[in-house]
Amino acid sequence: EIIAYRTRENIGTTTRSVNPDSVRLMDAMFRGSTFNNVDHETGRVLICPHGPDPVLLGIRGEDPTSVTNTFNQIKIDEPIERAMIFKTNQGTDAHLSCHRKIKTLLPYQSTVIAGTVTGAPRVLRGGHVIFRTSDETGSVDCAAYRATGLVRETALQLVPGDSVTASGGIHPRPLGVLTLNVEKLEVTGLVDTIRVENPSCSNCGTRCESMGKGQGFRCRKCKARLPKTFRVEKLELRKITLGTYHPPPRAHRHLTKPTSRNGIHRDTPFETKNDNIDQTLESLVSISIAS
Ligand SMILES: [Zn+2]
Repeated sequence: EIIAYRTRENIGTTTRSVNPDSVRLMDAMFRGSTFNNVDHETGRVLICPHGPDPVLLGIRGEDPTSVTNTFNQIKIDEPIERAMIFKTNQGTDAHLSCHRKIKTLLPYQSTVIAGTVTGAPRVLRGGHVIFRTSDETGSVDCAAYRATGLVRETALQLVPGDSVTASGGIHPRPLGVLTLNVEKLEVTGLVDTIRVENPSCSNCGTRCESMGKGQGFRCRKCKARLPKTFRVEKLELRKITLGTYHPPPRAHRHLTKPTSRNGIHRDTPFETKNDNIDQTLESLVSISIAS
């Protein structure tokens, strides 16, 4: 990540003179080697913080040269105190590497659990979706907040019996109850769901009505009766498929691995060939650093 810092006069103000169109342009140019510059659903620029902190902007990417080249494309209309390049675990899911059994969960852990949905999703005020997941050691409520977009939409379609791998932070609730706030949801198994319908009358074809719970059916037209075993079971089409669901970039935490980095894994040191580093530094020298 390359981070540019603001000068003393500007620290404390919340607007940053970074041209958003130039950010969108550089994002289109360097999308493969940098990530989370722009939220593509909303067009919102994500590289600038919004608070009074000293960071002007931060661009995350795959290597020092890419982030520097990207940085050089952005139109910035305020002085820069300095720019620094960090090796970082942002965008790597580093916090979601620890798989745990539900019984061992503790508040404030970031973790991954694998289990079976045992409580149908319910929608809370504010639109958040809660579903219960169990493994052989216990069960926990999983919360997919409204801002998690596709994660929430997917959670809403789960039914008991489905298999999931849920990643996220463990949060304490009153009375020692824990909730897993879902940051990433993998659906690993979907059960068949069956819809029960009233049968058609065998005399006249009219749709029958139920005579009550546990009772049989009666034709609305000719009053013929059918035993309850005549109920029709139809396989329902599941609206979700197996796969991994991510929140939109605007709802990412710093460590969340974006979809655009799927399959990318770096565990070796960056190439530090002198030519590369020299070129990178040279291009940074051209920045008008505030004196
Ligand atoms: Zn009938």
